Amino acid sequence: MRVNQQKPRQHVKGLTEVIPNVYHLALTGTSVLLLLEEQITVIDAGWKGHGKTVLNTVSALGRAPEEIGHIVSTHYHLDHIGGIAHIKKHSGGRVAAHETEIPYLQGIGLPNPMQNPIIGLLLAPVLALLRPEQFGVDLPLSDGSRLDILGGMDIVHSPGHTPGSISLNFPEQGLLVVGDALEYRHGKLQLPSRYVSSNMQHAKESVRKLAQLNFEVLCFSHFPPIKKNAAQLLSQFADSLD
Ligand SMILES: [Zn+2]
Ligand SMILES: [Zn+2]
Repeated sequence: MRVNQQKPRQHVKGLTEVIPNVYHLALTGTSVLLLLEEQITVIDAGWKGHGKTVLNTVSALGRAPEEIGHIVSTHYHLDHIGGIAHIKKHSGGRVAAHETEIPYLQGIGLPNPMQNPIIGLLLAPVLALLRPEQFGVDLPLSDGSRLDILGGMDIVHSPGHTPGSISLNFPEQGLLVVGDALEYRHGKLQLPSRYVSSNMQHAKESVRKLAQLNFEVLCFSHFPPIKKNAAQLLSQFADSLD
């Protein structure tokens, strides 16, 4: 179904349009993407407490929280899943996450993301405070899964930052969303930080895999999007990796 483009009814702090019907909402230290069509898709949900901001933004766009159909988690880190429980509770949206991360999200607890055990130990009390309310995952995702979102949203398993990190490829839109699988600092693509990534060899292999895709626009969780010729940049970056 064709859906007319939504425009915010008012200026919303941190909200920018990436491509028609795809909004990037910058939050403190993280970000969320809102995909607007007949149903709304929320990609990631910020830190604990950001769920409310996301729902307020949906309202500012002239839509209702009940119109949220999916809440997609790119990976289990606390700056991405913090608002999920709140958004789910107030919208009834289905939570989707890679199957590898479901045990972390639903049962055994969230592994400390710090790769240095001493830093991990020091930060453990802070991380405990930031731990979000529990929520259930409704839709397990795996590599090659396709959801009927914006003409087709393909799940690309891109582990390395975490074991179940996923990227979201929208071939109809020329858009690739990589979460934390890549960084973009000072105009240069980079691997995710080794301090908070579980396997750097896998991270490199994921970059090579993502570089095979065709897209124009590339969205990250912690950096502004690249809006032109992003596939070419990624392919050059993948070639530069040893
Ligand atoms: Zn992360
Ligand atoms: Zn992050």
